[in-house]
Amino acid sequence: MEAKFLTGVRGDHIFHRDLSRTYPLIERGEGVYLYGVDGRRYLDACGGALVVNVGHGSREVVGAMAEQATKVGFAHTNRFETEALWEAADRVAALAPGDLERVYFVGSGSEAVESAVKLARQYHRDRGNAGKYKVIGRWQSYHGNTLGALSVGGDVKRRRPYAPMAVDFPHIPAPYCYRCRFGREYPGCGLECAQALEREILAEGPENVAAFIAEPVIGNSVAAFMPPKEYYPAVREICDRYDALFVADEVMAGFGRTGRNFSIDHWGVAPDIITFGKGVSSGYAPLAGIIASKKIVDVLLEKSGGRFVHGHTYAGHPVSAAAGAAVLRIIERDGLVERSRAEGEVLLEKIRGLAGHPSIGEIRGIGLMVGIELVRDRTTKEPFDLRLAISERLTRLALEEGVLLYPGSGCADGASGDSILIGPPYTITRSEMDEIVRALDKCLTQIEKENL
Ligand code: PMP
Repeated sequence: MEAKFLTGVRGDHIFHRDLSRTYPLIERGEGVYLYGVDGRRYLDACGGALVVNVGHGSREVVGAMAEQATKVGFAHTNRFETEALWEAADRVAALAPGDLERVYFVGSGSEAVESAVKLARQYHRDRGNAGKYKVIGRWQSYHGNTLGALSVGGDVKRRRPYAPMAVDFPHIPAPYCYRCRFGREYPGCGLECAQALEREILAEGPENVAAFIAEPVIGNSVAAFMPPKEYYPAVREICDRYDALFVADEVMAGFGRTGRNFSIDHWGVAPDIITFGKGVSSGYAPLAGIIASKKIVDVLLEKSGGRFVHGHTYAGHPVSAAAGAAVLRIIERDGLVERSRAEGEVLLEKIRGLAGHPSIGEIRGIGLMVGIELVRDRTTKEPFDLRLAISERLTRLALEEGVLLYPGSGCADGASGDSILIGPPYTITRSEMDEIVRALDKCLTQIEKENL
């Protein structure tokens, strides 16, 4: 066979997200660090994209995956179970609140959201409410990049190019007190952001609304924002009143990232479905899924003979399941959820030491999810000009300093508004935290010199 592609230049045939950029070649990872082939070291202060929680290079996780792959690499879940799948499902279900008890595995957070949306639809249809199909989302939210996930999501820049192909689902404003969409101030605001859900359900007609989806602690869209304590109890009540399911998207915030098993636990509220991904396997293999409540599973068993009309080839992949089971074993054994809570407070305090920077509008966060919102003017909260792409610029400067940050944009009005997320592995030490703070300090000074 002619070696058409063997040109001697490696990497030329990769279709990157951004074909205009060059990407450092990574050789290995260990703890919070990644190492390039050129010997450069990067402190992974964002765990990839708030994915890596037990650290890079865990022999234990890799060992579990190798053992599973050696035994059997693939057995389709429409015919078989594996012990790895048993353990992964048991461990995920054991962490879930309320009567959430059945775990449906998929390969990515977007697929998890698709699954949740379809399950909500099937639940209502099975019960004879065939009209209920709309899923209400929030503006300034991200639930994934597939068309269904984009439809419920509220990330303007990612939705816009595909809007004609997406489902026209309704959205309500995010509970984002730093820039309240209702011009109110908590606690005297009457929680208009939660009342907006009821208004939207009534406007759409409760007979058409299947579910409401939200990230309890908002991740990338508004950089680690925690809505007020009354918000989710109110959401739960409104959903119950109109027979709409409440889907908590825990893809980014689940498995200890915010110092609790799931971020909804901060409110003591049980959703009907949880979507998860990222941290469940700490990035060692693609794994995600949904946890469904007994209420939903019972309806499927009773009305559809137990069949969920959905499925993916790689759902419950044995090697991914083994990775997930091993990661959740480590998180439990090493008390990493508690570590995330306690060390998160330390990290937040250290980053708060940067609050004197004139470009910092707000520093916020919970557990090992810390957000920084950047502004041109901290009194008026005016964002930087969109064209300056400040969060991207800051991320690149930090990369040069050997620190990986997760940039965000659109928090001010969907398009402009820059933010940075910091979410390192839960194993991070205090001196490694200091390294992050030093790099941030230097890069923020540079940004301010260039732009203020
Ligand atoms: N939901 C949330 C809250 C997310 O943060 C993400 C990914 N950033 C997704 C869904 C989509 O997950 P994936 O990229 O694995 O499809």
